[in-house]
Amino acid sequence: MSQQIIGLIGVGAMGRRMAPHISGAGFPVHVFDIDADAANALARAHNGIVAERTARAVAEASDAVITMLPAGGDVRDAVFGEDGLAAGMEEGGVLIDMSSSEPWLTTKLAEELAARGIRMIDAPVSGGTTGAEAGTLTLMIGGDDDVVVPCLPFLETMAGHVFRTGKVGSGHALKTLNNMLSGLNTMAAAEALLVGKRFGLDPEVMIDVINQSTGMNSAIQRTMKQQVLTRKFGGGFSFDLKFKDFVIAMQLARETGTPIPLSGLCFQLFESAREFMGPEDTSTGIVKWMEMMARTELTPGAGERQSGKR
Ligand code: NAD
Repeated sequence: MSQQIIGLIGVGAMGRRMAPHISGAGFPVHVFDIDADAANALARAHNGIVAERTARAVAEASDAVITMLPAGGDVRDAVFGEDGLAAGMEEGGVLIDMSSSEPWLTTKLAEELAARGIRMIDAPVSGGTTGAEAGTLTLMIGGDDDVVVPCLPFLETMAGHVFRTGKVGSGHALKTLNNMLSGLNTMAAAEALLVGKRFGLDPEVMIDVINQSTGMNSAIQRTMKQQVLTRKFGGGFSFDLKFKDFVIAMQLARETGTPIPLSGLCFQLFESAREFMGPEDTSTGIVKWMEMMARTELTPGAGERQSGKR
């Protein structure tokens, strides 16, 4: 049986780390990015990856096409824009949106593509650039069995965990709720550490203790020591993309009539922090803003107890 040929649109922080897993497993990969240098560099570095000049050319060369773009509007541009995927995809083709897109845009796009005989599923990911590099991403796949199952062999090359979430669009809904929760985790962890630091506790000791206690969350486990205490504030996930996920989650809450006061407050704090963020800031930059408000840096080491008096 001939090997499926896979297209990938978007080779940014995530896509450029995901593509080599697919090609490394023996699936030829054709890529396109509006940043031609990024696509060419990836193709130069990997034998099984070919850079194309348009999304249409990727579609013409591939059996299934993955999009890994900032958001649903970009996916739509890649599909219906000039020399887009729709111009090159044949009936029976499959589009897999792995970006963290707006679920309502995904269902609309899936319907429009279905009218042309093109099938669509969503398969957003969690695990960040580290998971993308290691091929251990968590995939949340929305779509019907007859479309999803044939895609699993190449999707699994990038994944540590694969979950089926329901109909097309359901993966995107779950992904955005996960990111809303991780935003809450980060702010909650930073607040506890800031009070502790001002009390005179060593944040490093706090993290070690909380990691073995009931206050543990993903930010305490994976972010605070690695990105904040080291003052790297990196992690490869832009503040803007994190903010976008929050906006989507807020809209989902509104559409479903779900009261989420805690997340709503956290969203407003993220929104306030936007002014403070520079274009290069990552999602962990929110902690810098919280440090500024507390006039305290989360550096390792215990210090003097601070007073609340100004
Ligand atoms: P990124 O901004 O680094 O990369 C996006 C790439 O898409 C860029 O190279 C850009 O040039 C390209 N692009 C934009 N519009 C295009 C178009 N119309 N046609 C072709 N190329 C186009 O973003 P990223 O960090 O790789 O994230 C991609 C998606 O994955 C986002 O939806 C994000 O929310 C999600 N995500 C990111 C992370 C992370 O840690 N970075 C983790 C999980 C999920």
